[in-house]
Amino acid sequence: MKRTFTCIVCPNGCEIDAEYEGTTVLSVKGNLCPKGKTYVTQELTDPRRTIASSVRVRGGELPLTSVRLTNAIPKDRIFDVMEAINQCELSAPVSIGDVVISNVLGLDSDVIVTKNIARV
Ligand code: SF4
Repeated sequence: MKRTFTCIVCPNGCEIDAEYEGTTVLSVKGNLCPKGKTYVTQELTDPRRTIASSVRVRGGELPLTSVRLTNAIPKDRIFDVMEAINQCELSAPVSIGDVVISNVLGLDSDVIVTKNIARV
């Protein structure tokens, strides 16, 4: 089979034309580095994504802080993780790197703060 993938590993966003059988990649064209082939293999076997979102903050200079995952999670669990994030509320102050949810849903990824919010 043939399919074009857009590699999301770095900002180059290479368009990769891949030929594959099942989950075995036979050839790739258009990738600027070997990570492109690894990305295509991952997409065929276990597609993963990271999430950036926001969490409510009580008593802070702003009502929200931004958060992200420390590791990519299976693509089909994104909505479950978003729901878990949406149920969180923090108390100011919060600092970059604070862990909001450790090992979210047992997926080997933490939700961490990416914006400092001071207390008012
Ligand atoms: S193939 Fe390499 S250079 Fe191209 S987007 Fe992927 S990681 Fe970046």
